[in-house]
Amino acid sequence: MNFPRDLIKGNIIPGERLGPHTSLRIGGPAAIWAEPRDMRDLKKIVVFAGENRIPMFVIGGGTNVLARDKGFKGIVIHLGSSAFKNIRIAGTTVRVGAGYSVPALVRLCCGEGLSGIESLIGIPGTVGGAICMNAGGSSSPLYKNIGDYVSSLKVMDNKGNVKTLNRKALSFGYRSSNLSEYIIIESDLELGKEEKSALKSRCSKFLRLKKDKQVLDGLSAGCVFKNPKNSQFTTGQMIEMLGLKGHIIGGAQVSRKHANFIINRGRASCEDVLKLVNMISKKVMDNYNISLELEIKII
Ligand SMILES: Cc1cc2nc3c(=O)[nH]c(=O)nc-3n(C[C@H](O)[C@H](O)[C@H](O)COP(=O)(O)OP(=O)(O)OC[C@H]3O[C@@H](n4cnc5c(N)ncnc54)[C@H](O)[C@@H]3O)c2cc1C
Repeated sequence: MNFPRDLIKGNIIPGERLGPHTSLRIGGPAAIWAEPRDMRDLKKIVVFAGENRIPMFVIGGGTNVLARDKGFKGIVIHLGSSAFKNIRIAGTTVRVGAGYSVPALVRLCCGEGLSGIESLIGIPGTVGGAICMNAGGSSSPLYKNIGDYVSSLKVMDNKGNVKTLNRKALSFGYRSSNLSEYIIIESDLELGKEEKSALKSRCSKFLRLKKDKQVLDGLSAGCVFKNPKNSQFTTGQMIEMLGLKGHIIGGAQVSRKHANFIINRGRASCEDVLKLVNMISKKVMDNYNISLELEIKII
């Protein structure tokens, strides 16, 4: 791809491997890896991609992404520069950049006595990724989704126009949002007020629960599949009942701790993970007549 290196002030890296930018550590090269330094840079990239019909993908922390072995024949945009990591607190409103880390955001809010998002403490990745995915916890009312707290969003459309979307224009579902056409730049979160000590102990409790249930030390992308609607079982329970915990294909393995997690044992390829995904999907369909939907995004 002929990308003018001097188009932007930020970093442009042709052929950057995606693996190191994902929590699964899997994935071949992006034709172009772009790190805009500011909004002007971002607009230039988006306009260039539009004019030249080049596919784009925005990556946050890469914690919900499976990148293909052959890579991505387009521009992968990463909002890693400080211009996209601003944070400002005014009363109970937090204005935070899309590149800001979610666990760091939760810690900061708890330290300021701002409540609501404590259950997100153990979710890795960035604010932009979390809002796009409406990241959150299980169906228990104890757990919240980040979309519950978004009061407005600053976004860029695929022509480079910046817009503000207010609450009414936003729609959040189970690990989904209506934001796939946009690049999320910044969000206003409306939080509550509570004693700092109560918030901190709640965070510790949520982290403990997550450590007990999930695989936080291995290489994974969190839950691979969504839980099906109207099923008495979660996806993890079905995979476990099918005896697939620990099942290995190549370098990929169904976690022994949480059956909806696939682990890279070190040298897994995307192909290994996809073979496991297909095998699990087929067995769940054959045995439970349920068509599983992927939670992870494949690029
Ligand atoms: C150990 C582990 C535990 C996890 N636990 C949970 C959990 O409890 N609950 C949960 O919901 N998820 C969980 N996840 C999944 C993942 O962490 C979340 O989905 C997270 O919010 C993704 O954020 P990210 O920045 O890494 O996004 P990425 O993985 O980089 O991207 C995810 C999606 O968001 C889009 N995106 C990213 N940034 C932007 C932006 N600025 N504008 C527009 N779109 C954007 C991407 O294009 C992609 O479609 C877990 C993952 C791991 C590895």
